[in-house]
Amino acid sequence: MFSMVINNGFVVDGTNRKGFYGNIGIEDGKIKAISKEQLQGKKVIDATGKIVAPGFIDPHGHVDGHEYAGELSACQGITTTIGGNCGLSPIAMNSFFEHQDSIGFPIHQAELVGHSFSLRKEVGIINEHAKATNKQIEEMARLAEIALKEGACGISFGLDYAPGSSIDEIKELVKVCSFYNKVCPIHSRLVTERDMNSLYELFSIAKETNATFLLSHFVYQYSASGIHMALRLVDKARENGLRMHMDSGMYTSWATYAGTATFEERSLKTNDLRLENIIVASGPYFGKRLNKELYYIMRNEYPQESLIYEEGTKEDVYACLKKSYCMPSTDIGAYKKGEGHPQIAGTFPKYIKEMVIDNKFLSIEECIYKGTKMPANLFGIKNKGTIEEGMDGDIIIFDLNRIEDKAKFPNEGYPDEKPVGMDYVIVNGQCVVENSVFTGSRSGRCIKLR
Ligand SMILES: [Zn+2]
Repeated sequence: MFSMVINNGFVVDGTNRKGFYGNIGIEDGKIKAISKEQLQGKKVIDATGKIVAPGFIDPHGHVDGHEYAGELSACQGITTTIGGNCGLSPIAMNSFFEHQDSIGFPIHQAELVGHSFSLRKEVGIINEHAKATNKQIEEMARLAEIALKEGACGISFGLDYAPGSSIDEIKELVKVCSFYNKVCPIHSRLVTERDMNSLYELFSIAKETNATFLLSHFVYQYSASGIHMALRLVDKARENGLRMHMDSGMYTSWATYAGTATFEERSLKTNDLRLENIIVASGPYFGKRLNKELYYIMRNEYPQESLIYEEGTKEDVYACLKKSYCMPSTDIGAYKKGEGHPQIAGTFPKYIKEMVIDNKFLSIEECIYKGTKMPANLFGIKNKGTIEEGMDGDIIIFDLNRIEDKAKFPNEGYPDEKPVGMDYVIVNGQCVVENSVFTGSRSGRCIKLR
């Protein structure tokens, strides 16, 4: 008798091998049995006609302990999120982990330590165009090393947000990360939106340091400059032995804070970003399109609110996610209810629907593998990412015929509208989503990577 069993489902186990009909027994938060025989349990879930898969591991999020972002992640099938991306993170990892684990959380959280906002601020760099001094670089490297020792899973960069970052500054931190065999997720610079210098810069650093890079939300960085050229360069870099991986969401229009360097006047000019392509994603002007007047209001009075920049095509997204080294990600941020970018609620259901059902770009096995075992392998997360005996009881059950994202852009509807078809999300053997309803369960734990 198990504490929970899932009977009659079609198991897609995350390893990329062919799916099979089977029954799963869970005990003490772990997968204890996978069987052709019907299993007995205190709680029995009948998964007839449904897919049973490992929970998704989102390699690029900004959940960072924010409750609603945790809920929205869970409801789209994410059971583990990697936080602290784009250079924005907690720095005192131990206290972040301790606090989170004392209150529990809907899903598991692994955490990066962030360079471009957080470490820079910690060593006293206020101006994002300023270069760090040698002393400041040393201090950032020291703090980053402590965070990695305390269990951070890598160092993240948001170079676009800290244009003053010198190559030396980046390289020193990348070296620390590489020494500990951890991952550097990088949100690249906007040198101009239409050239590839930002990629060449990373290749040269990777070559010198032998580090493992995860190119963050790639389609957001390069759809304006022609995604195919950018992808060809990454292919080539990989052929030359550089450790380049990539994540991408299901949308091409990206979001960030109104007050960032990205939306400075000079950045708008060099990158040819147009006000009429910008929509307000949060705050009192939610859903409004920018004009000159609203641009200054947002920059000056609401720098913490988010703006969405519209660009790119669906084909750009597909080109990325078809790559063998690209994994799906949300770029989810913390928003109030009713606000945000549809990526916060729609990404993974949209990924399954468009990549597997609508366009048949991926088999269901590849689709699950790219969102589970692939990120688990990259970050070195053991015990997660596959359905095998002994693995953690992080499981999703969904209806392949019904799965669909419902989240809309702010000018069209609710960005946080939950998907349909994601029936069960199980974290450490507890249902955080049951019959598509969020239960408020807090069985998620922090993942400290040593
Ligand atoms: Zn980013």
